[in-house]
Amino acid sequence: MRVGRILSRAISGVDAIDVEILLAKVLNISRATLKAYPERELNEHENTEFNAVLQRRIHGEPVAYLVGHKEFWSLDFIVTPDVLIPRADTELLVEIALELIESKKNMRILDLGTGCGAIALSVASERPDATVIATDASAEALKIAKLNAKHSHIANVEFALGDWFEAVANEISSPFNMILSNPPYIANFDPHLSKGDLRFEPNKALISGVDGMDALNIIIAEAGKYLVPDGLLLVEHGYDQEVLVAASFAAAGFSDIVCCKDLSGIPRVTYGILRP
Ligand code: GLN
Repeated sequence: MRVGRILSRAISGVDAIDVEILLAKVLNISRATLKAYPERELNEHENTEFNAVLQRRIHGEPVAYLVGHKEFWSLDFIVTPDVLIPRADTELLVEIALELIESKKNMRILDLGTGCGAIALSVASERPDATVIATDASAEALKIAKLNAKHSHIANVEFALGDWFEAVANEISSPFNMILSNPPYIANFDPHLSKGDLRFEPNKALISGVDGMDALNIIIAEAGKYLVPDGLLLVEHGYDQEVLVAASFAAAGFSDIVCCKDLSGIPRVTYGILRP
């Protein structure tokens, strides 16, 4: 079949843009090249491969896992089913983090539960003077994050394996200026878990207790021990967790607590300062 024919027919259950992305991947060309040569004929091998990947998409597998990549903060991230697919929403956390340290130099920054490294590597790429430590409880995830550091030629990120602060227990004597995290925050039985990409993503990166607050509560409660005076904590959270998160920040001694809304107007990122 010809490229033009594939692109012009509607495939039920698959967005036209996803068809383009998958076909470009199978043919190992850019989407622009794909569209510039509609007369290109797929050989038998390419046809078989494209149909196989299309079937997997029809069954719901995320495009990012099928092509093995996802763009975030203008960087190209390698992703596998061992890591959450970075969301555009999370760019808000990166944006706020960069704003908060704009006038400061040589910051020590911690990213807890880095997954593919989206937050840590984005911040590190913008601030080569900073040192970022990226942790994850999953050795497989950390492997991907390290690959991504290499892939984007980012050298100012170090990696540590472990559950939340356990990964940096030996760093307690050199506290951080800023701690960042996009932890799992979905409630155990949230119906969204059986829809869309979430079905294929690691549960460990998504789910956290009956109200989705388990990981957030640990991170917020413990952060103070690892922060310098006036240190900052920024976390991403769910649309209905703004009040719980603010209460947790206050209980842990944080002040100047601010919640920011994402592009869809949903409360998404909360930060606070640990005043001495
Ligand atoms: N923002 C993701 C979603 O709702 C969840 C990510 C997370 O739990 N950290 O699809």
